[in-house]
Amino acid sequence: MNTTIAARLAAIHEQIALSCQRCGRDVASVQLLAVSKTVAAAAVQQAAAAGQWLFGENRVQEAAIKQSQLASLALPLKWHLIGPLQRNKVKQAITLFDLIHSVDSVALAQEIDRQASSQRTTPMPVLVQVNVGREPQKHGLMPEAVVAAVTAMAALPHLAICGLMAIPPFCDDPQQVRPWLRQLAQLADQIDRLKLANVAMQQLSMGMSHDFMVAIEEGATLIRIGTALFGPEGV
Ligand SMILES: *Cc1c(COP(=O)(O)O)cnc(C)c1O
Repeated sequence: MNTTIAARLAAIHEQIALSCQRCGRDVASVQLLAVSKTVAAAAVQQAAAAGQWLFGENRVQEAAIKQSQLASLALPLKWHLIGPLQRNKVKQAITLFDLIHSVDSVALAQEIDRQASSQRTTPMPVLVQVNVGREPQKHGLMPEAVVAAVTAMAALPHLAICGLMAIPPFCDDPQQVRPWLRQLAQLADQIDRLKLANVAMQQLSMGMSHDFMVAIEEGATLIRIGTALFGPEGV
């Protein structure tokens, strides 16, 4: 049996505990999302055997295939969508995923709301993605557009807006990412103060393999980790 994933998972949990200790947070307030994009179903199974149950995928189709490959095992897994969502994939996405991290326009939110009204019995939980570094190649709303967009989305009854997500610019030194992480947390606070219907900023999805310890210090509740768990090439 391959014990690498179990060992890496244990090391990540140790680092999460250390970070939480450093800033006085409860470890239970940070969830580890194992990013399994490009990783085979067998590796997901190994991570599950080591106690990991929450997985993130960036493509709807890949997630559908992997979920069906694992279906016969009846594992109690939860799946989040972390990649960009096309309008024509919404119907499938809202049945495959427990949380969509990548809502970046009111039009996309409206389509999720429309599909959720017929496909789901409960509102679809979503996060709103913010392009904190204003990078042209990245998805997400510009920071100054977020409050107006979330206010518009709040009128959609089949959507539960649970927080914000960001993929900040990559910096060799994770300390340099801190201002962007802090900006996301401040935006969430600002939105919470508006007390909008269907909106509760409970989740801050930020932090990846190289910067999750800093992200925890800045308030991350969902850290998205791929490479540090599955290795640079996947497994
Ligand atoms: C791939 C990916 C991750 C994981 O990145 P690592 O650096 O491998 O941990 C996190 N978030 C998103 C949105 C991703 O696409």
